[in-house]
Amino acid sequence: MGYPARWDRLREEMAREGVELLALVPGANLFYLTGLHFHRMERPIVALLPREGEPALILPAFEVEKAQRAPIPWRLFPYTDTEGPASAFHTAAAALGGRGRPIAVEALGMRVLEWSLLAHVFSLSEPIASEPLLARLRMVKGPEEIAAIRRAIAAAEEALQRWLPEVRPGMTEREATRRLIQACFAAGADALAFEPIVVAGPNAALPHATPSDRPIGPGELMIVDFGAVVDGYASDLTRTFVLGEPDPEAARIYAVVREANAAGRAAVRPGIPAEAVDQAARAVIEDAGYGPYFPHRTGHGLGLEVHEPPYLVAGDTTPLQTGMVFTVEPGIYLSGKGGIRIEDVVVVTENGGESLTAFPRELRSI
Ligand code: ZN
Ligand code: ZN
Repeated sequence: MGYPARWDRLREEMAREGVELLALVPGANLFYLTGLHFHRMERPIVALLPREGEPALILPAFEVEKAQRAPIPWRLFPYTDTEGPASAFHTAAAALGGRGRPIAVEALGMRVLEWSLLAHVFSLSEPIASEPLLARLRMVKGPEEIAAIRRAIAAAEEALQRWLPEVRPGMTEREATRRLIQACFAAGADALAFEPIVVAGPNAALPHATPSDRPIGPGELMIVDFGAVVDGYASDLTRTFVLGEPDPEAARIYAVVREANAAGRAAVRPGIPAEAVDQAARAVIEDAGYGPYFPHRTGHGLGLEVHEPPYLVAGDTTPLQTGMVFTVEPGIYLSGKGGIRIEDVVVVTENGGESLTAFPRELRSI
């Protein structure tokens, strides 16, 4: 879907919600609608997209040339460092005439910096969150987006393949992580989707542990969770390995998590609520008696952001649609001992789900 089609969809959604103006800051939503990537710095940049009429962009003067290269008929409201942004916000608001009209902002992305400038010039009192509206646009991926996610996955899987032979007992988690980062870039990643997690032994019992200076010991389970970014789109992949031979309990729990991952993937099909995938994966872990040791949701949408709607969690009743992409990542974590998580990326197809990740899921000893 090109930008004009995305804008048409945006305007439909704005009309549906009664929103007159959408204010965006640098990040995934602005990139999705314009292809523009700006850094979020102390100098505010705000795009104002009216339901009717030309969009406006308030930005530092030195960014004007970059904005003009985007295929968007912007009205630009630049400010210099000596002027500061206040007068550019006033001029833009006067030009758009949005005072007192319903304006949606990014509740998750906008800072007090931008909000206070906007609230002042548009006389706003309460922010209207634009996330539900933007999620309806972004949740269903177009073929070009799925192709980019596939490239991001290919880079991550190649990186994992290259990196595994380098890992040995005695290496610290931090050193192993450093090597994984190098492998990601060598495999074609433009950037990392997030700071990779390589954690072993008791550290692996924390679902989002940070790699430490602790050496990875023989016989320990090691969780590797990371992703690459290619052409703006992210991958997200977790595999759990064992250094040497697993103890019988570890092997048994691994089999449970693997079955839960398979059950979650198998449940995917259009029309069911997102929470049904969570239920399918969770039931396997609960039936095996490990329910309390699976403390997080089963997965999250994936695209321009690593965590985006839909969320595979009880209470998210978003009906799955062909083209949605999300992770399925059940895990079991035993405090003080270790943890296991197996994460795949699944796209909803016309009659089911297809795992875009293909890295083997058998417990591999390294
Ligand atoms: Zn992950
Ligand atoms: Zn994930």
